[in-house]
Amino acid sequence: MDEQIHATREIRINPIVPSESVLVATARSMRPQKEEAPAPRDTRRHVETCPFCRGNEDKTPPEIDRFPQQGDWDIRIVENLYPVLGDDRQIPGLVFGLQQAIDGYGRHEVIIDNAGHGIAVHEMSSPHLANLFRVYQRRMQQLYAMDDRLKYVLVFKNFGPAAGASMSHTHSQIIATPVVPQNVHDEVINSRNYFKKHHHCIFCAMIDEALTFETTIYDRHSGRIVRQISVGQYVVEKGEHFIAIKPFASRYEWEVHILPLEHNSNFMLSKDDEFADLANVLQRTMARLDAVIGGAQYNYFLHTEPHGEDYVGTDASYHWHLEICPRTSIPSGFELGSGLFVNTVSPETAAEQLRAVKL
Ligand code: AMP
Ligand code: ZN
Ligand code: ZN
Repeated sequence: MDEQIHATREIRINPIVPSESVLVATARSMRPQKEEAPAPRDTRRHVETCPFCRGNEDKTPPEIDRFPQQGDWDIRIVENLYPVLGDDRQIPGLVFGLQQAIDGYGRHEVIIDNAGHGIAVHEMSSPHLANLFRVYQRRMQQLYAMDDRLKYVLVFKNFGPAAGASMSHTHSQIIATPVVPQNVHDEVINSRNYFKKHHHCIFCAMIDEALTFETTIYDRHSGRIVRQISVGQYVVEKGEHFIAIKPFASRYEWEVHILPLEHNSNFMLSKDDEFADLANVLQRTMARLDAVIGGAQYNYFLHTEPHGEDYVGTDASYHWHLEICPRTSIPSGFELGSGLFVNTVSPETAAEQLRAVKL
């Protein structure tokens, strides 16, 4: 393909959140970022001193939930020992002049997502991962039901030091906030605006494009192919209910998004049989990423329809998804100063490499 011969250098506009656009610059000499050195992964099954390993249950704050309920646990939710948000009341009158603030009220919980200390997601079984999604879902439902001051429940995972993980035992986290995060708000509102204009969901349109779009663009003068899109070019994995897509405007070199194939705005409405397929798609996607990057350190997070009256009527236009962001480079002054993410691997090449992995 043409792209392999010529370096790409273009600003790609994120169709949902234009402020999250990306500079794709693939020539090595143009790299403004510093590459993150791959860290050796802690593959130990059990660590005597680890507070998240079995047998050390007394080294964490109180348990909130566990799965299964009887016998040895496979998944455990505990209070965070060092929560970034808490339920202690702040003294009112925090605001003065331009110094506006809202109470740091909320919840911060840790999900010990496997008893195996250093196990990677692609090494976990599909039934285990399906249970993990059920545990996320159940906790999200409980948190929304128990406190209507909580406006968003963010489920995320940090894996590896490059992704900000301070504990090497595999874990996810829940942070429930009294405000809807701005990026989620923007996705929901912008996709609602798109729906008003086009009468269909922009995420569904993206999936359709990934599965059916095909075109070749030639240079009018030389006849040279300048761009070629083939069917499935951005598809990394496809199951019965879920698809893993390499976004055209990927902020991170190996970023992949997983979305339900059938329109669904809310993660809390997903069914058990769908989770079995999601587990399979996630497991295979992570195996591909791990094979290509050689020990993926990454963040993943769930974006789903928020609660509250601002978001009434967004169920037809929003589409929940899981964003996986492997951390292979350190953002530099350019990214911080411009707000533009720099991606040095063309998303087309990245998708091709991920698909080429033999599982
Ligand atoms: P990470 O942000 O990925 O490093 O997540 C690890 C989280 O575990 C941090 O938010 C810590 O505050 C939390 N943590 C550390 N030690 C414990 C512990 N013994 N029990 C519960 N949470 C802990
Ligand atoms: Zn451990
Ligand atoms: Zn949709």
